[in-house]
Amino acid sequence: MTLRIGLHGAAGRMGRAIVAAIRERDDAKLAAAVDREGGAALGADAGVLAGGEALGVPVTADLATLAASEVVIDFSLPEGTARVAQACAASRTPLVVGTTGLDGAAEASLAKLQAVAPVVVAPNMSPGVTLLFHLAARAVEALGPDYDAEIVEMHHRKKVDAPSGTAMRLAEVVAAAKKLDPSLALVYGRSGRTGERTREEIGVMTLRGGDVVGDHTLVLAGPGERIELTHRAHDRAIFARGAVRAAIWVATRAPGRYDMADVIGLSR
Ligand code: NAD
Repeated sequence: MTLRIGLHGAAGRMGRAIVAAIRERDDAKLAAAVDREGGAALGADAGVLAGGEALGVPVTADLATLAASEVVIDFSLPEGTARVAQACAASRTPLVVGTTGLDGAAEASLAKLQAVAPVVVAPNMSPGVTLLFHLAARAVEALGPDYDAEIVEMHHRKKVDAPSGTAMRLAEVVAAAKKLDPSLALVYGRSGRTGERTREEIGVMTLRGGDVVGDHTLVLAGPGERIELTHRAHDRAIFARGAVRAAIWVATRAPGRYDMADVIGLSR
């Protein structure tokens, strides 16, 4: 069985990485490649755009071409996610959403889609990061309130936002496990006379430099010992491979909303 995958945001960095990740597999193939109206890559072959041989799939702005797909992967912008979710709802096509920062309009479209088709939404498609979130929650619960949680993340010097979305998600996971409200608990850097650290805070510290793809560490520091859980990304291809794995997994699910923990079997 070769799964026909449609790609939305096909001309972007992640879109091109996903074309490469699909090419690595013999159980999936690219069926359609869509990007926004007016984009420079329209008409180009998606395979060539991704730095490989032609696949005979031109990049188009026509969402109707996605109807040839058994599942669609979206890495675009929130307004793109809203539109592609609407198109998928009309054809009941399963969707994998990697786009981050989803707004109310995107969430409303996804809510309609997940009533009729299965949807995976994951701001980080790396299986390793998904496992880190899982281990973090278990570790915080097991160690209890005597262990202070601090998060350190490092990314390349070109990253323009901080902390990373993954660090924020990790902080939310830790806050939930500690039964703290993240809007009150998170502390983004310390300097000067801060006073003693309280039990109700979670430090989130950002380092920037070089070409680091993405490192995240959770430190749990207790009386007389500490444990550190670290994930290091070496290659952006992990997100693309994770998205293709999610596409293959979601194609046979019942309608509803899923995340990467479901895809890698952690929520079973
Ligand atoms: P990018 O800017 O390189 O690519 C985005 C592509 O989407 C562009 O080709 C753009 O033309 C297209 N696009 C924008 N609006 C569109 C619309 N309305 N309709 C159709 N196409 C549209 O960005 P990127 O680095 O590829 O990242 C894309 C998204 O994926 C971002 O939200 C990013 O944060 C997210 N991301 C998620 C993961 C993950 O693991 N889930 C990993 C990396 C990036």
